[in-house]
Amino acid sequence: MTAVWQEQVSLKPYNTFGIDVKARYFTQAHSDEDVREVLAQARQRELAVHVIGGGSNLLLTRDIDAVVLHMASRGRRVISDDGERVVVEAQAGEPWHPFVQWSLAQGYCGLENLSLIPGTVGAAPMQNVGAYGVEIKDVFAGLTALDRETGELRDFSLQACAFGYRDSVFKRNPGRWLILRVRFALRHELQAHLDYGPVRQRLAEQGVEQPTAQAISDAICSIRREKLPDPAELGNAGSFFKNPVVSAEQVASIRTQYPGVVAYPQADGQVKLAAGWLIEQAGWKGYREGDAGVHRLQSLVLVNYGQASGAQVHALAQRIQADILERFGVALEMEPNLY
Ligand SMILES: Cc1cc2nc3c(=O)[nH]c(=O)nc-3n(C[C@H](O)[C@H](O)[C@H](O)COP(=O)(O)OP(=O)(O)OC[C@H]3O[C@@H](n4cnc5c(N)ncnc54)[C@H](O)[C@@H]3O)c2cc1C
Repeated sequence: MTAVWQEQVSLKPYNTFGIDVKARYFTQAHSDEDVREVLAQARQRELAVHVIGGGSNLLLTRDIDAVVLHMASRGRRVISDDGERVVVEAQAGEPWHPFVQWSLAQGYCGLENLSLIPGTVGAAPMQNVGAYGVEIKDVFAGLTALDRETGELRDFSLQACAFGYRDSVFKRNPGRWLILRVRFALRHELQAHLDYGPVRQRLAEQGVEQPTAQAISDAICSIRREKLPDPAELGNAGSFFKNPVVSAEQVASIRTQYPGVVAYPQADGQVKLAAGWLIEQAGWKGYREGDAGVHRLQSLVLVNYGQASGAQVHALAQRIQADILERFGVALEMEPNLY
């Protein structure tokens, strides 16, 4: 199938912040062949290509004078099943949450804690998506990507992805690899991760004593629906800043002034701080500047009340970063990808 190119397309429906910028060209890929064809045509016409999935980790600050390639490839299949471990593969354009629900419906465990994260399968390895104590690196079995420099297909092992906290080799080399499909190692038997946040408590409230993977997923969905704004109602990209990792000395120094600082010691001796706590302490929770704001319940989530531009959201983010640096000496890093 030949991919159709549209001109001057608003990206508002294609990013969860609901930012209205235009792509000079917009097209979709349903297959590897579509991807190769779009890249070849763009090269001929000397146009850059920006890949997007669900647009739930983007902050678009300007019109894109390039081709925006929306990954729309679909398909999921079982590659192997030895009775304990099941390897499943999904195409990049598969929407993430329906894929998680499909895996649970088959009786495969492992993705339940990652329920209700927006976006696509292909983007999930970009920042090693994580929630409620699980990251995709914990269930990762490999992926196939197209090297945009050489045109060759490459299979990535867990090690080659160099996953870190909201980080990967793909995030560190933007535009180099186009992820075509991802494989996950799931299990028939549940290994429950209930110790993060209020998951165990929510299950107890629901009277669930021996939770199934589906029950954990349902509990996490209900917690997330309470905590996070639905992008269909209020534009946002989830957590806007990463939780900063700092030295133990720095935390000790912050603690002298702020005894309640929320800090999680890491295996390497460093300490992860809750970015949302820092932002809330600094008084930004619920702050609004035009249509750009900080969510009234979640300091970590920046929101678009309707007509905010990406530049306005970015300017607000920069003011918050400068304030946190001044107050706490801590540099906050943005999580969404900025264009
Ligand atoms: C309400 C809300 C809650 C969220 N909660 C979480 C959470 O709990 N945990 C978490 O980790 N994230 C969370 N996120 C962030 C986001 O959902 C994830 O990062 C998701 O994986 C992004 O997928 P996407 O398809 O929307 O990517 P996009 O936003 O479309 O793209 C993100 C980046 O990946 C690149 N990309 C996309 N597809 C491909 C591909 N096939 N190959 C190569 N590069 C590609 C893009 O170029 C871009 O740089 C949340 C977002 C929202 C709005």
